[in-house]
Amino acid sequence: MSEETIFTRIIEGEIPSYTIYEDETTYAFLDANPLAPGHTLVIPKEPYERLNDMPPDVIGDVFSTAGKIADAVEEATDATATTLAINNGEDAGQEVPHAHLHIVPQSSEGGPKS
Ligand code: ADP
Repeated sequence: MSEETIFTRIIEGEIPSYTIYEDETTYAFLDANPLAPGHTLVIPKEPYERLNDMPPDVIGDVFSTAGKIADAVEEATDATATTLAINNGEDAGQEVPHAHLHIVPQSSEGGPKS
């Protein structure tokens, strides 16, 4: 497990966030600095630092949540696709050391591609 990060405080409601989805093991919320409207983060509730640290069932839970909400994220933002990305470690650009999956809405009209 990693040290407590800002994402733990978000899960615990100490820092406000816009909830997209929540279940026993995962939490999805809007990114505060979105690459596109509707940019969503899916996190495990347990504070694993990297994907490498997560048991397979928790990895499954995070991707299962992404699968459940992808249609809604697209429909809410008039997107036709999404980019799913994980910056897995500091040298890959991971700034918050609590593993998270980015869901970035995309459309044929352009906008961010990463
Ligand atoms: P990067 O900032 O390079 O994308 P990460 O992959 O670690 O690095 O992503 C952390 C993400 O967390 C960023 O997209 C950032 O906007 C988001 N973020 C940071 N603080 C908050 C917050 N309080 N609420 C929602 N999103 C946040």
